[in-house]
Amino acid sequence: VTTVTDVMAARGHEQVVFVADAPTGLRAVIAVHSTALGPSLGGIRFWTYRSEDDAVRDVLRLSEAMTLKAAAAGLHQGGGKAVVLIDDPDAPRTVELLHAMGRAIDELGGRYLAAEDVGATTRDMDLIAEITPWVTGVDPAAGGSGDPSPVTAVGVVAAMRAVLRELDGAPGLAGRRVAIQGVGHVGGHLARLLSAAGASVVVADANPARAQAVADAVGGEVVDTATILEVECDILAPCALGGVLDDLTASRLQCRSVCGAANNQLSDDTIDDLLATRQVLYAPDFVANAGGIINIAEEFVGYSHDRALERAEGIEQTMTRVFALARERSTAPGAAATAMARARLDAEGAGRRWRPGDPAAWTGGAPLQRLRPATS
Ligand code: NAD
Repeated sequence: VTTVTDVMAARGHEQVVFVADAPTGLRAVIAVHSTALGPSLGGIRFWTYRSEDDAVRDVLRLSEAMTLKAAAAGLHQGGGKAVVLIDDPDAPRTVELLHAMGRAIDELGGRYLAAEDVGATTRDMDLIAEITPWVTGVDPAAGGSGDPSPVTAVGVVAAMRAVLRELDGAPGLAGRRVAIQGVGHVGGHLARLLSAAGASVVVADANPARAQAVADAVGGEVVDTATILEVECDILAPCALGGVLDDLTASRLQCRSVCGAANNQLSDDTIDDLLATRQVLYAPDFVANAGGIINIAEEFVGYSHDRALERAEGIEQTMTRVFALARERSTAPGAAATAMARARLDAEGAGRRWRPGDPAAWTGGAPLQRLRPATS
């Protein structure tokens, strides 16, 4: 039997908080994987899990992934995640339940900073933020960073330039063919940016009207969702769901590289090697899609959209370093990116933990008491 503390010990989680509030029916788990580089940050997922075990597995895995993402992106924050177990994803959550979740987050004193994730609505986040200051991504009018997807898309394009330099020695997108799976928030922006850069775009979306609208706007082509992964192209950009590349789909790819926004694109680590063997260059997802958390980090110092975009451009250099490390160590890029993130955690974070009242990297030595600079 593997217990929760077994996993925590093996994977390095600092803290897992089980939350139940009988009067409101709230059941949730908050995992703080690492605060070695600063307060942990990660989304709150509202999800119907088959069992509590599934929820715990999910929150442990996702919080660790957030640590690696923040570390690879050079941010001064750690990785955390929260899951709220719900029975009906479409029923609105009560104010009382969300306030109880707010109290649970508040009690961690800033060790866990919440963000929006799958299943969460703006209303959920606003109600949680009524109780605790430790909530990111709030309304831009309140000094928040708002919708991260334009910045995420800019980061993915930056990653694509690194991909093209690695493949062909030149980063230009003009004349390249890119297939985008899922043209929602990120994929839609991505299609427009690529087309503006002179690339030709092929799209597919589970919502056919959305695919058509994006294709019309950028002069692109639509294919159905069953064939997008097999389109012959320079770059395939998964921007829909996780787990799209498994033994079967990875063996059928006709692209030269994979670089997109979706989280957890590989069904498991062995696909990293399979892609390398097939000479499909994989741009590790947690490096390519870091624009979202880079955007949030800008809130802490007084949000500027322009600065967030500029920082997201830095993903080009980060991805270039990942590919160089992979070549140097003869490993697949996913393994290289993980090694790079862990090396930073060891070098800069070794043995450190962030506690309530500690300074953060951006507070000039003062205790972190609020997430955003006071608005006068
Ligand atoms: P979204 O829900 O706005 O868009 C996803 C799109 O994919 C939708 O249009 C949906 O219809 C489509 N889709 C679903 N299943 C599909 C399928 N099988 N084939 C083709 N299309 C399908 O989500 P988003 O915010 O654009 O995020 C996309 C992905 O990027 C997610 O995996 C998300 O976790 C990840 N991500 C997003 C951000 C961000 O800033 N929004 C940041 C980092 C990572």
